[in-house]
Amino acid sequence: MAHDVVVVGSANADLVVKAERRPGAGETVLGEDTVIMPGGKGANTAVAAARLGADVALFGAIGDDHHGTILLDSLRDAGVHTELVETTARPTGIAYITVTPDGENSILVSPGANHALEPERVEKALSGAKVMVVSLEIPLRTVERAIETGARAGVRTLLNLSPAAALSERTLAALDVLLVNEHEAAWLLGSADDPAKLLDLGPRAAVVTLGARGALVLTPGSAAEIAAPQVDAVDTTGAGDGFTGALAAALAGGADLESAVRKAVQVAAISVTRPGAQPSYPTAAELPGG
Ligand code: AMP
Repeated sequence: MAHDVVVVGSANADLVVKAERRPGAGETVLGEDTVIMPGGKGANTAVAAARLGADVALFGAIGDDHHGTILLDSLRDAGVHTELVETTARPTGIAYITVTPDGENSILVSPGANHALEPERVEKALSGAKVMVVSLEIPLRTVERAIETGARAGVRTLLNLSPAAALSERTLAALDVLLVNEHEAAWLLGSADDPAKLLDLGPRAAVVTLGARGALVLTPGSAAEIAAPQVDAVDTTGAGDGFTGALAAALAGGADLESAVRKAVQVAAISVTRPGAQPSYPTAAELPGG
């Protein structure tokens, strides 16, 4: 079945434990009860887009285990289509997250099934799609093949290069929109001085998220800064994924890039005022004027 938005990316179970301090080498520390939260950049992005009413499917991989069931349930609850989520022989990806009283996280990711996500089924998954969103935490060959296949098929291709990784020139040139935060932009360009140089890497447009300052939209010959509304941020986990999902949903709905970024900035600003990643994403009715 064709879907307007296809998200190609990871799904993880986030196992969150609060502890007075994180253990050092060879040490055991007792923490609080484990809280299991659905996560992974791909799943978060898909949930954010679905909450806004987009017709979205996740192309991803899980294991045949309890965590996989939790992830599928949360995707379906949000309205994400899951028939492109493959169940593999490897365990569902897990992020082991320790949170200390100073609010700092330390995260160990075991990619599991996410690293078994092969590109072979991408072509079929993309048939009829308007927008494809790709993020990392999955094999680079799958990222590259998805983008190149999408571009050939006339699907609008959007890459959230998070976490930053080196992609081929050919892949970057096949992109409609390259989406990065300030750190990823600086990593790609070797400096934060001139983000407009992102366009020299080959995409038709680039969007740089600027945290509390909002986002920058770069197209050949123009740069527009979109300010974020002032909010009391309580938890920025998943803000970038929420931004990405909202951007994809708006583009699939026919918005031009700058209007789509304005919407994404609104959505991400609401998400940082609420705890968690997926639970923090608003519905269209919660947006100003919605
Ligand atoms: P970042 O990944 O930190 O650049 O954040 C992604 C997006 O989340 C930004 O482009 C903003 O739209 C939104 N955002 C993050 N932090 C804040 C904040 N403190 N206040 C308002 N919006 C925020």
